[in-house]
Amino acid sequence: MAHYMHIESAVIHGGIYGDYSTGAVNTPVYLTSTYEQDGLGKPRSKWEYSRTGNPTRAALEALIAELETGTHGFAFASGMAAIDAVLHLFRSGDGIIISSNVYGGTFRILDKIFGQYGLRCKIVDTADLEAVKNAFTTDVRALLIESPANPLLTVTDIEAVSGIARANGAITIVDNTFMTPYLQRPLELGADIVLHSATKYLGGHSDVIAGFVVVKDAELAKRIHFIQNAVGAVAGPFDAFLLIRSIKTLAVRMEAHAANAEKIALALQGCPAVKNLYYPGLQTAQGYEVQKKQAKNGGAMISFELQNDYDINKFFNGLKMIALAESLGGVESLVCHPASMTHASVPKEIREQTGITEKLIRLSVGIENYEDLHNDLFNAIKGARR
Ligand SMILES: *Cc1c(COP(=O)(O)O)cnc(C)c1O
Repeated sequence: MAHYMHIESAVIHGGIYGDYSTGAVNTPVYLTSTYEQDGLGKPRSKWEYSRTGNPTRAALEALIAELETGTHGFAFASGMAAIDAVLHLFRSGDGIIISSNVYGGTFRILDKIFGQYGLRCKIVDTADLEAVKNAFTTDVRALLIESPANPLLTVTDIEAVSGIARANGAITIVDNTFMTPYLQRPLELGADIVLHSATKYLGGHSDVIAGFVVVKDAELAKRIHFIQNAVGAVAGPFDAFLLIRSIKTLAVRMEAHAANAEKIALALQGCPAVKNLYYPGLQTAQGYEVQKKQAKNGGAMISFELQNDYDINKFFNGLKMIALAESLGGVESLVCHPASMTHASVPKEIREQTGITEKLIRLSVGIENYEDLHNDLFNAIKGARR
């Protein structure tokens, strides 16, 4: 039984805290591939080979399971490796419904890899509950969503769609990368599997590539562990250590990220140069009420378009502090151009249909001083006028 009640403590004390044999307050980095056995059939400990299990990774896996209020966590070499492991649960002929805007790599692995093996993916606007209901043909085994989704921050009612999936004998998988368990816990809302690119907020410092799967069901846990061990895309011990260290500050970082983002979103809303603005923490945003119900705040991702008389290249070139780069969720603010960067693998017709236009700019708001951020962003907007 944990001797704390709140997630701000769980991020620091959760999982397997410290090291019993030495009293070290931090989990050691077990840089070992294998473990000596005392004789045939006589393992000295529960560890036998580090693809199957490693104590540093196990501490991290216990931590993410606890934070997401699941029973089992699994750490992978990347977010895509985590998604790949989950997709291995399905077989040829199975259908999967995905949100109409998801991470480009999620679309790509379904379209180009699992499509080869007969997995069928259906793109649905999962914010529209009627559309979700209608999409459930008998072959559909799962619903894979992001909320808010990448890059238009579309909010899906996780509790409602999980109910629809369950009623149709399908499972719900939520990629919780944009929110983290500090802001939103999909398993509590009825989802069966939570996915993460831990590369983003959980890592938080743009220095590690990793991913997670979390479940709350023993049978599903057994299957995911089998796949993790059989396929082998595990997180290494040093990356596991970095993540344990990063997650200790998750609560304070997420508060700082969201506080900056809320102010930036309001400033963009009041700026005549801005055409379309997407941020689920704004009262005027699509899904604001659902976001308020299922998450602590609107997070720190903002997407927007500038008016036609603004030049997007000039805007990117005008930024001095905010870096143009793929990725998100680090302490430093980053901007990207989804159409040519994170979502380039999504066919142009689908991009246009779903609103991922050539003019869309995605901003990952960091935890720098607000005034510095504001000045950099609005100077670049001002300088982008044709
Ligand atoms: C980045 C990202 C991924 C992929 O994770 P990697 O760690 O880059 O493999 C998956 N989903 C979302 C929402 C992401 O932002």
